[in-house]
Amino acid sequence: MSLNPVRGGLWGKALVVSLCMTAALCLAAASAHGEEITRGSVTGQTTAKGYDHPNQYMHLRPQQIAPNMEPVMQHLDQEKQARQKLADLEKRIGKKPNILIFIMDDVGWMDPGFSGGGEAVGNPTPNMDRLAQNGLVLTSAYSTPSCSPTRATIHTGQTPLHHGLLRPPMYGEPGGLDGAATFPQALQKLGYVTQGVGKWHMGENQGSLPQNVGYDDYYGFLSVSDMYTEWRDQYFNPEIALSPSRFALMKKMPFNHNNVHCSKSDKKQCRDVYEINLTTITNLDQDWAGYSEKFIRKMAGSDKPFYLYHATRACHFDNYPNSTYAGKSPARTVYSDGMVEADDILGRLVKALEETGQLDNTIIFFTSDNGPECEVPPHGRTPFRGCKGSSWEGGVRVPTFVYWKGMIKPRRSDGIFDLADLFNTAISLAGAPGAQAAQFVPKTHYIDGIDQTSFLLADQGESNRRSRIYTMNQFFSGLRIDEFKTNFIVQLQKAIYQKGYTGGFSGAIVTATGGVTMNNLYTDPQEDVSIGIRHIPMAVIMGAEADRYRQVLKKYPPVTKIGFDGK
Ligand code: CA
Repeated sequence: MSLNPVRGGLWGKALVVSLCMTAALCLAAASAHGEEITRGSVTGQTTAKGYDHPNQYMHLRPQQIAPNMEPVMQHLDQEKQARQKLADLEKRIGKKPNILIFIMDDVGWMDPGFSGGGEAVGNPTPNMDRLAQNGLVLTSAYSTPSCSPTRATIHTGQTPLHHGLLRPPMYGEPGGLDGAATFPQALQKLGYVTQGVGKWHMGENQGSLPQNVGYDDYYGFLSVSDMYTEWRDQYFNPEIALSPSRFALMKKMPFNHNNVHCSKSDKKQCRDVYEINLTTITNLDQDWAGYSEKFIRKMAGSDKPFYLYHATRACHFDNYPNSTYAGKSPARTVYSDGMVEADDILGRLVKALEETGQLDNTIIFFTSDNGPECEVPPHGRTPFRGCKGSSWEGGVRVPTFVYWKGMIKPRRSDGIFDLADLFNTAISLAGAPGAQAAQFVPKTHYIDGIDQTSFLLADQGESNRRSRIYTMNQFFSGLRIDEFKTNFIVQLQKAIYQKGYTGGFSGAIVTATGGVTMNNLYTDPQEDVSIGIRHIPMAVIMGAEADRYRQVLKKYPPVTKIGFDGK
């Protein structure tokens, strides 16, 4: 900055005004600077030209590409560059690219090393860091506030308000994807082999089973880690584990208690492989890693491209590391041991891709399904406000990178990426870019995702997304454009309970606004100072964008498949 004569002049003047303590000193300083200061303001006229920055779109309007799709910031040059890269690769390899989504559970933005955690928080993540450093780190990638809503958002390309999984189904509650149009179904139609491994948690009823919503094969559990073990553990739940009657009740609860195998050859059910209990849980991530490795090696000889969804058990509570990983993290907590194990597993999958010659043709997408769960320690970390369960940044800003050897230029970008964009981007990579995604869903299905292929692949790619829609439970809760975020509905972490570990699900949800509650995420990532009144010019544009999405919700009304208050 000091090299800029104009800026240097302004800063010099500001320094003179702020540092001089007496009139004599002021005069001396002003004189030394060759200017006289009489009365007025340092923020008077300027000759500074100012700067526009990439990924800032407040002043622009996106383009509507289909009636049932979110509008897009189009970048024709980067689109052309990305398409050329894809065409060149396809010519060389002879098939469309493979897609690997590696999704972790309840891992916070600051848990992996590539976004400030790693060694600094006692769980080194060398594999994640190496891939991130050689890929594109997305510093503003967004999940929903919790597990199932995010996973359904990825699969349907919709916000929870549109896909209807407003919260996770627990202990056999009905509801799930249930026949929704998903991107794995589209990939099947585009000639892909589709494999899922690990945590499902998008419904256990027949219509929601993986093989009925786009997976050729699925190996994992149908719900979430704690459901299999917390009632068995006499430390966490002695009220159940040490009551024979209650324990018997839990054994009979109508959810599948097993690690299962699902195949498209059997639409009715998944086959039980083994019961998940306090012993088998310790090896689950290793078992799943082995399954994914085997799949990758099997696909090496195939003339078809593959899509692999690897959803880890770690690091959702409760973590039970096996003897190899117990204490392996310098933090020695079961959570951090889970991070270390998951990092090893990611490394194994990449190694399998490398050894079989498939790394060049595989895009690897790493993320987490929500921010840290702060009510059950030890848990993840975030530098932002709030936790899992809320739409404060901490609940929904997730550690994310995309790695593709030779195809993605190593860099970091704060362009906005919503995990709903994976829906469009995967379909685009498979050969149906932009508005073509709409052909894979009913006309009543609103696609909240955006094709981000050119953002990822062009060397200086920018986000194709102008705004980010925040949801929480059944609410449209906030909106981001550029560095500005406005919150309409917020979760107050300590509004109900002052003691203990409070977090997303134990706070109060309140209508926030006294008119203009807005934050600048660059100057105030903790979202604790409202700048709405100071920035009314921006707040008005934000309000118009919120109104646009409210119109979308009128035309494509919210649905509830798993909701609140008994619905
Ligand atoms: Ca989760």
